[in-house]
Amino acid sequence: MNPLDLDEFKRQGYMMIDSIIDYYRNVANFPVLSQVQPGYLRKMLPSSAPSNPEPFETILKDVKDHIVPGITHWQSPNYFAYFPSSSSVAGFMGEMLSTGFGVVGFNWISSPAATELESIVMDWLGQALKLPERFLFSTNVGGGGVLLGTTCEAILCTLVAARDEKLCRIGKENLKKLIVYGSDQTHSALQKAAHIAGIHPENLRVIKTKKSSSFALSPDSLRSAIMKDVENALVPCFLCATVGTTATAAVDPVGPLCDVAKDYGIWVHVDAAYAGGALICPEFRHFLDGVEGASSFSFNAHKWFFTNLTTCCLWVKESSCLTNSLSTNPQFLRNKASDSNQVIDYKDWQIALSRKFHSLKLWFVLRSYGLDNLRNFLRNHIEMAKTFENLVKQDKRFEVFVPRYFSLVCFRVSPLAIANKKPFCNGTNEEEDHYYGFGGKIINDDKERLVNEVNRKLLDSINGSGKVFMTHGMVEGAFVIRCAVGATLTEEQHVIMAWKVVQEQANSLLSVVSKA
Ligand SMILES: *Cc1c(COP(=O)(O)O)cnc(C)c1O
Repeated sequence: MNPLDLDEFKRQGYMMIDSIIDYYRNVANFPVLSQVQPGYLRKMLPSSAPSNPEPFETILKDVKDHIVPGITHWQSPNYFAYFPSSSSVAGFMGEMLSTGFGVVGFNWISSPAATELESIVMDWLGQALKLPERFLFSTNVGGGGVLLGTTCEAILCTLVAARDEKLCRIGKENLKKLIVYGSDQTHSALQKAAHIAGIHPENLRVIKTKKSSSFALSPDSLRSAIMKDVENALVPCFLCATVGTTATAAVDPVGPLCDVAKDYGIWVHVDAAYAGGALICPEFRHFLDGVEGASSFSFNAHKWFFTNLTTCCLWVKESSCLTNSLSTNPQFLRNKASDSNQVIDYKDWQIALSRKFHSLKLWFVLRSYGLDNLRNFLRNHIEMAKTFENLVKQDKRFEVFVPRYFSLVCFRVSPLAIANKKPFCNGTNEEEDHYYGFGGKIINDDKERLVNEVNRKLLDSINGSGKVFMTHGMVEGAFVIRCAVGATLTEEQHVIMAWKVVQEQANSLLSVVSKA
C-alpha cells in the first residue's frame, strides 16, 4: 500500500471536496452549538487503532455519524459566538496548496519562495492597513511582518523581545523589576505571556477601565500606574493596547497611550486580533492613529479576514529585537544564504522551528477578492450588525450595552425593564422580591445579581434552541450577551432570525416570571 497513491488521492480528494460542500450546504440546519455531553465520543469509537486498513468511505461515514454531532458549527450562518473564524474559498485553496507542497520554511534556503512570498504579502497587507513605513520590509530600515499561528504567540514573542532589550540595558539581574501593563479588558493572552516570560506575577498591572469611557484604557490611568512603579524603583517594560477588545470590542486610544509609553521607553504592542482587518477601510483607520509610536501590531486574519485558521499577522518596527531574543544557530541549519545576512530566516521570529507555507493563504485571499471586495465583505457584516443593533433598540425590554464600532453588538435585558417589573408582571414589589427568592427588599447588589441571572438564563435558552449560538462577556459586574456578526455565510435574514430567537426566548422566559 502506498500512502501517497495519486489515483487514490484524486478519488478521495474529489469525494472530500464534495463532502465539505455538502456540509456547507447543510450547515444551517444543524444545532449551531453542539448538544452532545462530555465523553460522548469515547462511547462510539473503538478503544484502539485498527491494525488493518479501513476504506475511506467507512471513515467518511463515521465523520457524518459521530464527528458532525460533536461539532459546534463555526461556519454556520447562524454562528454569532466569541469572534468569527471566517473561512473562504481562497483561504481554503491556499491552505490546500500549502499542505500540498508540504514544505517546512524555517529558513530561506528551506524554501526561498515561502520566505519571500511571506515578506511580500506582509508588506502588501501592511500597506493596505496604512501601517507606518517603518513596519514594512520595503523601506529597509529594520521593520517587517511575519505570520504566526495565534495572537498568544505574537504577544509572547514581542514581550520576550521587549524584556530582553530592557534587560540588556539594565542587567539580567533586574528581571523581577520589569512591569507589564494592560487593562482589565486586555485578553488573557497577556497574562499567559507574562507568566511564560518569567515576569513576576505581581508585576502585571491590570488597569481598571470604566463603562463611562466605553472600557477604553485611559492614558492618565496608565501614567499614574507607571509613575507609581517608577517611584518604587520598578522598571516599566511592556504595554499591550487593544483595538477591539474581546468582551465588547472596546478601542484603546493608541496614539495617546504610545505618547505616555514613550516617556518611559515602554514597548507598546497593539493587539487588534479581531478588528484589525477592518482597519483596511478608511473609515476605521483612525483607530490606529498614532501607531507609529508603537513597537508592534498584530491581528488574526483567521478571525475576520477570510483566511482559514491559523494566521496571525505580526509587524514589528525593529525586527532585530525579535531575532536577538529568538534566534538560534545550530550547525545543522547553517548555510551560505543565512551566513550572508542577506535573507530572512523566519525561524528567528517565532517560538517553533517548523512553520507552514501560510502566506499562500493570504496571497490567495488578497488576490482572489482584491482589497475593494474585502472592504465590502467587512462593511456588509458591519451593516448586518447595525441591523441587529437597531432591532435591539426597538424593543424597550432590551438595551445596547456599549457603543458598537465594528460587527459586535453587546446587549442585555435592561435593568430598567426589570426594575419597573415591565413586562415581567403587574404585581407589587413584594411579589417581585418573592419570585426572585430574595425574600425582602432588593438592595443594589441583589438587583445586579438578578439582572445578570435573567440574562444568563436568556442566553442559555437562546443557545439551547440550537438555532443560533451567542456568548457572553462580563464587564463591570454586568453579564452582557454578545452577538458577533462575521461568519462568511451570514446574510441579513440570519441576523433578523437571530433577533427573533432572542425575542421568542425572552417572551417565554419573561412569561414564566410573570406567572410566578
Ligand atoms: C481572540 C483574541 C486573542 C487571542 O487570539 P489567539 O489567536 O487565539 O491567541 C487575543 N486578543 C484579542 C483581542 C482577541 O480577540
